[in-house]
Amino acid sequence: RRKNILSEEDLLTQLLEGNKAALGRAITLIESNQPKHKKNAEILIEGALPHAQKSIRIGITGVPGVGKSTFIESFGTYLVNQGKKVAVLAVDPSSSISRGSILGDKTRMENLVKEKNAFVRPSPSGESLGGVARKSRESILLCEAAGFDVILIETVGVGQSETTVHSMTDFFLLLKLAGAGDELQGIKRGIIEMADAIVINKADGDNLKAAREAKMEFKRALNLYSTKESGWKPKVNLCSALNNTGISEVWGLILSYIKQTKENGYFEHNRREQNKFWMFQTIDEHLKNRFYRDPEIKEALKIQLKAIENNKTTAFAAANELIRKFEAS
Ligand code: GDP
Repeated sequence: RRKNILSEEDLLTQLLEGNKAALGRAITLIESNQPKHKKNAEILIEGALPHAQKSIRIGITGVPGVGKSTFIESFGTYLVNQGKKVAVLAVDPSSSISRGSILGDKTRMENLVKEKNAFVRPSPSGESLGGVARKSRESILLCEAAGFDVILIETVGVGQSETTVHSMTDFFLLLKLAGAGDELQGIKRGIIEMADAIVINKADGDNLKAAREAKMEFKRALNLYSTKESGWKPKVNLCSALNNTGISEVWGLILSYIKQTKENGYFEHNRREQNKFWMFQTIDEHLKNRFYRDPEIKEALKIQLKAIENNKTTAFAAANELIRKFEAS
């Protein structure tokens, strides 16, 4: 049976050679929820880690319809033409909750996927955002080990997904549309604070004037925030993903961000802090999974839930009882 199955070493070797099919299979392995794949996935990650290249990790967010996939198609193609190897990953919590995906999969970025130096991967499914996030985080490392030097991670403004993507990227880009003066409403304050650049897309045709006005408005709004820890002043740009305008400018400002934050030490500092954060996340997720997957706990949990429903116990007493049981097992 093993005959047709690549060993992990073979898979790792091919991945390190930049083989996209091997990278795809490796990601499938780490995305698997089956316990039997866990060990192999760990071996793979550990083997890949020392080879993970220096890359630039860019988070891209924006509401559905803002033009994320059109932008990534255009931006990604531009980067490939600049000699970059571009990987596109997605964090889409909706796909794990509703089984439906906001980002949508396969048919997106039709031209980019055909590029030899581009790799496009849809969002993993998972039981929780934490699970999806861990998989994406490990996928970043695998992509870097396969030689991809720009990693684009796309997400939508659902729940905590933007914060999650922000915590695994070097640069965070918010795509926006020009509206009728309501640009600043309905935009979560936290998102503005995370953004290193706000790029107003669809700045073309009849939209151009409104886009220019929106740019001014965002600039004014950004001035109200105090300087970021990175020392970087967030920028506001216009682009048309459809017409390929403003795309090289976006790359230009990302390069100046990288230069500035590498010089002032923030770039490496931020990566180290992210690593610490992800260590804790991984521990949390592991402990939680062990608890909730324990067959004895599963049974006891039902009993305690029933007891709470019938006002026979309190939340704290129930929790303590379950934790005692878990620790004793
Ligand atoms: P997503 O949901 O954020 O991924 O958005 P899509 O990339 O699917 O784009 C949504 C719609 O907006 C599509 O019909 C695109 O063709 C259109 N679109 C995207 N970028 C632009 C642009 O720069 N200008 C114009 N006029 N339309 C755009």
